[in-house]
Amino acid sequence: MASRDIPEDVAREVRQRCGFGCVICGLPLYEYEHLEGFATVHRHLADEMTLLCNLHHAERTKRLLTLDAVRAANDNPHNRRNGVSTPYDLHYTGSACRVRLGSMTFAADVGAAGAALIPVTIDENAPIWFAFEDGHYLLNAKLFDVNDQVILRITNNQLVYSVLPWDITFVGRTLILREAKRRILLEISFQLPNEIVIDRAVFRYKGVTVVVSSGLLGIVNTRNAFANFTISAGSIPSRVSLIAVGDPPDSMQWLLNVPVRQGQRRAISRQESLAFVRAQAKQIRETLAHVERDATAAEIIAASRTLSE
Ligand SMILES: [Zn+2]
Repeated sequence: MASRDIPEDVAREVRQRCGFGCVICGLPLYEYEHLEGFATVHRHLADEMTLLCNLHHAERTKRLLTLDAVRAANDNPHNRRNGVSTPYDLHYTGSACRVRLGSMTFAADVGAAGAALIPVTIDENAPIWFAFEDGHYLLNAKLFDVNDQVILRITNNQLVYSVLPWDITFVGRTLILREAKRRILLEISFQLPNEIVIDRAVFRYKGVTVVVSSGLLGIVNTRNAFANFTISAGSIPSRVSLIAVGDPPDSMQWLLNVPVRQGQRRAISRQESLAFVRAQAKQIRETLAHVERDATAAEIIAASRTLSE
């Protein structure tokens, strides 16, 4: 008798075909369903499986949903039809927030109305940030692929992803987007009520590539790297970008600016990005060993420049 564990390549094929969500309602939280029941078929074939959310799975189990209805949805999955997932509401709340990017921590306390903690911007785009609304920090994100197509959007806690990426998994509290096997675009852990942890990410926008990997945040175009810092912004008065890469955005204040000239903007391969980050990883640990955590902006700039020379 076959194991109940679904082989990873089969599970991925099912996710891809179903658009990474319940085939009926598109919700990103789902289970794998054997159309004829595993107890009947005793095997895991992608063609015989689909994705259902908790509600629709329970309805199917209770026979409040017919097999024909599930098959019809499986033939024309909700998210594949729409090109994006059904919104999922995250439960971020509270009057403080914290973002961990590699070995760096960005934190803020209660802000003014309309304030935002934005760890990194590329030109005017912020890949991920917390906005302060009605006394609470709410999570926001806007992530692009190599063609400047939006692949993930979080708007005041409401998560929607595109079906464009090669694979998307949302297991436990961790969402992972991949552009190919072992090629992670984003690995984000939602640590409720007020923290996110990003261990791996590739933020791309208008020919600029910012990579989070091996504990570092690396700006590949300019050969800058940051690590081992905590920036506590305290109570923030407005929208603040802590590391503004590229053109400093007009719509917000910023702490550090790493300009990227037009001639430095280009398509950067994943291989080049990772090679840069790995080469810096050892060096940066040595360079920054003498710098205190909770460093000032000037110290961070100095350390970063040391590395890029
Ligand atoms: Zn559903």
